[in-house]
Amino acid sequence: MQQSLKSPFRAIVISRDEDKKQSVEMRDFPAEELMDGDVVLKVDATTVNYKDGLAITGKSPVVRRWPMIPGIDCSGTVVSSENTEFKPGDQVVLNGWGVGETHLGAYGEYMRVRGDWLVRRPEAFSAHDAMAIGTAGYTAMLCVMALQRYGLTPDRGPIVVTGANGGVGTVAVSLLSGLGYEVIASTGRPQEADFLTSLGAAEIIDRSELSEPGRALGKERWAGGVDVAGSHTLANVLAMTHYGGAVAACGLAQGMDLTMTVAPFILRGVSLLGVDSVMAPKPLREEAWRRLATDLDVKKLHSLSQMIAFEDIVATAKAIVEGEIRGRVVVDMA
Ligand code: NDP
Repeated sequence: MQQSLKSPFRAIVISRDEDKKQSVEMRDFPAEELMDGDVVLKVDATTVNYKDGLAITGKSPVVRRWPMIPGIDCSGTVVSSENTEFKPGDQVVLNGWGVGETHLGAYGEYMRVRGDWLVRRPEAFSAHDAMAIGTAGYTAMLCVMALQRYGLTPDRGPIVVTGANGGVGTVAVSLLSGLGYEVIASTGRPQEADFLTSLGAAEIIDRSELSEPGRALGKERWAGGVDVAGSHTLANVLAMTHYGGAVAACGLAQGMDLTMTVAPFILRGVSLLGVDSVMAPKPLREEAWRRLATDLDVKKLHSLSQMIAFEDIVATAKAIVEGEIRGRVVVDMA
């Protein structure tokens, strides 16, 4: 069905007063205030990522323009386009590029964005499926691709996934186990062990094993890792990586710091692979979404995601920062 841009439209808006105090409200937003871009999208579904939690709670300086509509990703339908690559009715996904940080984001019914930020939604996924993956799941895919590019095949040994019950973690566990890797899931929620096993984890370890300052080198326990925590967790993961292994680091759920020695790098030839989803070049994004469509079991995807309404976004954003959300959250914009 042909869509048209409505004004005003419903949105969550973050504002800041003269004392730089942040407030969040749900209100009507005039379409004339949408920012520059060559494609207008109707948002069909969005999601709540950890970064959205940081933006809404103001816990980290994610938002850098006010007023801001937060929401770093969406599945959308093209309403109008001045970009030759897209036409009305096209189904797309958008992750990152500063959306929800410096450019008005996905927690509104409409967005105006640059066409070169958009990736066509794979046919394998509905709009909701694509947001069950969202930026967290797409980042998990980027991490797996980084480990594979490095040459870590399943025969090299197990892969540890930290923050295993979170968004990146659940998708990383599912992807890696589906690709034949033995997955060690590190979590602070051992009560969710059965869930992680159902996603394909072979072993569950308590995250407290990794979260305290550790030794320069530990027992070699895994060939590689996907780390969402940073801080001591990442330092310990690196210190326990097999000779010649590699760890893909994408997050800071424990902290931004990284205090460690160079021992894993210079004595074991371990590599630290940095993963950024926000400014990742388009060919890498397209490859990640293609790979998700072939490598991710949609049944597992459904088991790790829950649906919420637009009105529940703010409460969910607070809960994700508290580490209370298991897996992924899809926001139905219908
Ligand atoms: P979630 O909140 O869904 O998951 C984070 C998980 O980390 C929690 O569920 C918890 O898992 C674990 N965790 C929480 N606190 C701590 C702690 N103090 N120490 C160790 N582990 C902890 O977030 P996402 O999965 O969406 O994102 C994870 C991280 O990755 C975030 O820091 C996010 O900003 C980052 N990220 C980075 C991207 C990039 O482009 N580089 C893109 C997407 C995300 P459990 O309960 O199992 O222990």
